[in-house]
Amino acid sequence: MSVRTPPAVAEPTGAAARLASELDDLENHQGHDIDSILVRAAEAAWAAQALGNDLLLRRAQLVQADMRQRSGSPGDAARVFLTIHAWAERYDSRPLRARSHFHLALTHHYLGDHSASLEHALASVELLEETAPAGLRIIYLVRLANSLVECGSLDAARERYAQAERLAIDSGDLTRQLLVLNNLAYTEIEVGNDAVAGKIVERMHAAVRALGRDYLVMECDTIANVQISAGDYAGAERTLAGIADAPRWFEAHDVADARLTLATAQRRLGALERAQATLDRCKAGCTTDDLRAVLVRAMAEQAELYAAAGRYADAFAEYKRFHAAAEDLRSRQQEARARTRQAMFETAEARREAERYREQARRDPLTGLYNRRFVDERLPHIVTHAIRAGAPLTVALVDLDHFKRINDTLSHDVGDRVLVTIADLLAASMDGQDKDAFVARMGGEEFLVVVPGLAEGAGRSWLNNLRRTVRDHPWAPITGELPVTVSIGAVAGPAAPGDDQAALLAEADRNLYVAKRSGRDRVVC
Ligand code: GH3
Ligand code: MG
Ligand code: MG
Repeated sequence: MSVRTPPAVAEPTGAAARLASELDDLENHQGHDIDSILVRAAEAAWAAQALGNDLLLRRAQLVQADMRQRSGSPGDAARVFLTIHAWAERYDSRPLRARSHFHLALTHHYLGDHSASLEHALASVELLEETAPAGLRIIYLVRLANSLVECGSLDAARERYAQAERLAIDSGDLTRQLLVLNNLAYTEIEVGNDAVAGKIVERMHAAVRALGRDYLVMECDTIANVQISAGDYAGAERTLAGIADAPRWFEAHDVADARLTLATAQRRLGALERAQATLDRCKAGCTTDDLRAVLVRAMAEQAELYAAAGRYADAFAEYKRFHAAAEDLRSRQQEARARTRQAMFETAEARREAERYREQARRDPLTGLYNRRFVDERLPHIVTHAIRAGAPLTVALVDLDHFKRINDTLSHDVGDRVLVTIADLLAASMDGQDKDAFVARMGGEEFLVVVPGLAEGAGRSWLNNLRRTVRDHPWAPITGELPVTVSIGAVAGPAAPGDDQAALLAEADRNLYVAKRSGRDRVVC
């Protein structure tokens, strides 16, 4: 295939160069004044059209869609991102691809689809060119870190936050450093590290003082959340005092979040009337700006507020409404995801994207192994195939012995490292096996190994080798004195008509139980 050149993307000169630099500025904007950025982006789009410059036009459109999404209309924005993404792929415009991935990561975040969000966030960082402004790299890294948090990879996330902060410090970008700190603090509160979050907030105060500007809405929200978790409700109310009447041009989502935090602080203070007034404002804003997710959380807060006022019947009714709304939100998000995915399938360029997304959704983020979803799709085919061919099949559940002890006496992090190492050992054991052989993480500390083609005895001795490989691995650097062993419950031998995935897994599970009961570190087949 020949390399295609995008139309009208020669080195910009004159008017085009000026427009490109205006777009650099808009993409890299520090401001939170959505309306003025929208106006500038609209002018840029118009100028790009007048110049007949497609690339600049699309960059301007991305900025516009981004602003619309931030001010609360995610629906249309997603379509624009997808169209521009397809264009960027077709003409292989790397910066634009990075940028549209970044926006799609945000869109999927709003849709509650964390694995898709993570995949786009990863792609955006990977595609960002070495020469890209540090500011962009910082923003992309923060989005990636946030997606990692949502997918449960906290340590990987902290690494990205740290990387982003280093970049901000190295480039003397205090504003971006604050952005990093704000997101990191929010993450630490969410995972219950109140003390750590408190320390980060102190650094936020120092940075804001050095900048000599006011706190942004989202910064106030983070700080107030830290105060609430420290029991300082009056402090939280003071922090958010200005939010109740925040002007329209602030980011709608941030304002709604902050009002909800304020209502919580006021309720905990016992100022129930003030809390109700704030909550009413929050709900009204959510309705105007179509912020369903915040609205659902506002209903939970409303129920708490009724309960605090002793109105238990109202509280109960509100809880029921909250649950119904949460359910409704989930199904709306699912529909929105399906629509977004559909749109992706509609362009040939995006199809590859969808492939990668599918792959991602079938992987366990911690170990990189396939996950349960993959097993449910793949294993039935393998079983059917083995039955038809009258061929043998080994299906084994591999469960770590006394894994809880490793978590409890060492740490959850060490537990994670053990899981990752086991995953590597299992994956390595697949070398040279049938092309359909695979290993997956079923959940927790349980893995599944599927190997077609081994006769019963061979299957059993292969599994025993696997068991010994785990036991004999040099674990001391990770677990010190604690041994690491696995118990294996398996079925091996020729697949019989009538076997299906459920029956094989159930039998393997029974054998695993026997292996555990009879002393662990053994294979029961
Ligand atoms: P047994 O030998 O009977 O299998 O005992 P066990 O301790 O291995 O099994 P149990 O089911 O009691 O405990 C499993 C533990 O695995 C409990 C849970 O906290 C831990 N676990 C599950 N998922 C993860 C994970 O992703 N990371 C870490 N570190 N621990 C996990
Ligand atoms: Mg176990
Ligand atoms: Mg288990």
